[in-house]
Amino acid sequence: MTEQVPALSASRSDLRVHPAWTDSAFAAATARTHAHCHPAHGSFIDSLTGVYNRAYVTGRAQQWLRSARAAHVAMIVVNLDCFSRINDMADYDLGDRLLRSVAQRLAGRVAANDLLARIGGDEFVIVTDGDRDVPTLPAYARQILGLFAEPFVIAGRAYRVSASGGVALGAVHSRDAAVLMRDAGAAMRRAKTQGPGSLRFFTGDMHEAAQRRFAIEERLRGALDAGEFRLAYQPVVNAAARETVGVEALLRWTSSELGDVSPAEFVPIAEQAGLMESIGGWVLAQACAQVADWRWNIAPDVTVSINISPVQFNEHLVQHVAECLANTGLEPSALQLEITEGMLMPDDPTIGATISALTRMGVRLAIDDFGTGYASMSYLKRFSPHGLKIDRSFVAGLPHDKDCAAIAHALVRMAHACAISVTAEGVETEEQASLLREMGCDFLQGFLFGRPGSAAECSGKLSRASRFATRREQR
Ligand code: C2E
Ligand code: MG
Ligand code: MG
Repeated sequence: MTEQVPALSASRSDLRVHPAWTDSAFAAATARTHAHCHPAHGSFIDSLTGVYNRAYVTGRAQQWLRSARAAHVAMIVVNLDCFSRINDMADYDLGDRLLRSVAQRLAGRVAANDLLARIGGDEFVIVTDGDRDVPTLPAYARQILGLFAEPFVIAGRAYRVSASGGVALGAVHSRDAAVLMRDAGAAMRRAKTQGPGSLRFFTGDMHEAAQRRFAIEERLRGALDAGEFRLAYQPVVNAAARETVGVEALLRWTSSELGDVSPAEFVPIAEQAGLMESIGGWVLAQACAQVADWRWNIAPDVTVSINISPVQFNEHLVQHVAECLANTGLEPSALQLEITEGMLMPDDPTIGATISALTRMGVRLAIDDFGTGYASMSYLKRFSPHGLKIDRSFVAGLPHDKDCAAIAHALVRMAHACAISVTAEGVETEEQASLLREMGCDFLQGFLFGRPGSAAECSGKLSRASRFATRREQR
């Protein structure tokens, strides 16, 4: 159905953000709008938040892009960081209320002639109408992201939520509203890779990246059923004796059309596309079964580390872990779940509840890539993980980079003071291994001790390691 877009008025005063109201008037005005909404107008409004919807704003932006001021029109796409965590925290009502508060805050800041719309679950767009000079856009976009500096108070509780933004310009990027919105979205996704609260302007290479992303998302949807995933296992050795004591399970995907795609590329896409819960569930079941088998047949003490995506970290995970342990007979203490620092949002009760439930079950938890995220020391105290993995970016600088050495050493001492064991990732040279051992690192992982390999390759290594251990014990 073609969207009927109201004609462009001379004064443009009717083009204000809808509803372009002050905070206090927002709720009342939203109710009023809906109560009196003509059905035709109702279709312009996002019923949850009261701001415009995607169809309306696209049509209106298209009119602007055909007008004389097209070169000054821009789109700013704003997407909340970690919104799924908020939805997981309680019920959807909390998420809905947050989205309404966000809409309200944005509406209070968006310039009078600009348009504000919600264009997806937690995604908003602001279309600037051309009165604004392009050089002022970065400051404007930053002011909009700055609105998220203050927490959102919902039912008496404060929630800290940041947002990332992407900007595309009618002058440079496209005169087609849908394309401009897509490009601003691609810029926003690129911004997200730089961390929460980031802002990026669209550049040509993002178009290719967006196409690649789209292709990956499409292919990922059928990848589990097509049996395109497998797991690789990388040995983890104890620093003192350099014996393999565990493995990290690492996901591998060979797409029939795209070939091998790195998890660093496809995992974030799977997370955003809502596919990571099922893929992560498969990883968990597969790795538990494999390691239970190794413990039974080859290496009775070997443990397994499994990476858990933030979107998996909820009560379903607790249930699934319990099922996997029951089905495979794997002892809970042989399973370590790796979570990243960014996941540990201090305000989030779901995280706390999930950590407690897993810990009660006897499963171990480790913080992966430590030092690359927020690295808040208070997280260590609050969530008391069993292990911490020093990110390989610090290890790569060893032994010569004094800062890397100082940081790695400090992390080991701090972790040990909290009775947390330390694994160094990405150990590639003998010098690094020796230095890390001197620093007191408990475990080492990296190409020096073995690259991630198939279960069959790993079986060979584990059986050799266990034969050595048996011989040593017999001596
Ligand atoms: P990670 O969990 O930190 O895994 C370690 C990564 O470092 C792996 O990359 C591994 O191959 C690589 N690596 C290990 N030793 C060395 C070394 O000595 N030098 C260098 N340069 N690299 C080394 P990989 O397999 O490409 O995985 C990348 C990331 O993808 C992982 O980082 C993890 O965050 C994510 N990932 C992998 N599998 C899964 C999974 O099953 N679920 C989730 N949620 N994420 C996964
Ligand atoms: Mg890991
Ligand atoms: Mg890591």
